[in-house]
Amino acid sequence: MPEPRSVLVTGGNRGIGRAVAEAFLAAGDRVAVTTRTGQAPEGALGVACDVRDAASVDAAFSEVEAAHGPVEVLVANAGITKDGLLLRMSEEDFTDVVDTNLTGAFRCVRRATRGFVRLRRGRVVLVSSVVGLYGSPGQVNYAASKAGLVGLARSVTRELGGRGVTANVVAPGFVETDMTAALTEEVRAGHLAAIPAGRLARPEEVAGVCVFLASDAAAYVSGAVVPVDGGLGMGH
Ligand code: NDP
Repeated sequence: MPEPRSVLVTGGNRGIGRAVAEAFLAAGDRVAVTTRTGQAPEGALGVACDVRDAASVDAAFSEVEAAHGPVEVLVANAGITKDGLLLRMSEEDFTDVVDTNLTGAFRCVRRATRGFVRLRRGRVVLVSSVVGLYGSPGQVNYAASKAGLVGLARSVTRELGGRGVTANVVAPGFVETDMTAALTEEVRAGHLAAIPAGRLARPEEVAGVCVFLASDAAAYVSGAVVPVDGGLGMGH
């Protein structure tokens, strides 16, 4: 068994983040999750954090460091949607989504890097989306934020690759969570018709890829965008 590591998952109280935390727990790691609302999964440490606030991110990391040691694996998963057609999208709906999904991930990665540099190792997994590179009508804010994560991961790879740090992006397609439960039946049927796998993903199917990217087996994988989308975005 590999040594247990200190793992932090943002947005770990529900959905994909919760499944990711549970998968790392099953692998024997010391797992902390950020919660804005709700509860951490059993066995994980829950720390309050809003990724829109750098001081809140800093406090959450300090709490995790005190309990579990420096964060060695960061899964930046917290994310929101505020969909709307471009012509009617407010500047606020654009910047809110970017602030949470992209700048929020930046705040967490920047804070984690302090420990990575000291440890001379670290793993970053950014939860993006198929729509980051595929595009999606009504989601210019969301798609832009998710595409930005690719540049972030690749720049971290170039900046810190020589210090034992890897940074990768997971790009899920449609996953059965609260986020997709909000879709209308019509929209859902349209998406299903376009997915070669013919079904949505289960959160655990995204979690497995996150655990792999943080494992020793993936030590030479960095700056990659790994689709977990049943073939929806093939070629992106
Ligand atoms: P959910 O809506 O089920 O969960 C989102 C999580 O993010 C919650 O834990 C939520 O906390 C947290 N969060 C949102 N805003 C903040 C914030 N400002 N600070 C801290 N935490 C925050 O979403 P999913 O599980 O479906 O999605 C998780 C990630 O996967 C997101 O980044 C999403 O964009 C991405 N994704 C999802 C897909 C899907 O089909 N479901 C497909 C592709 C990507 P709280 O409970 O307090 O709101």
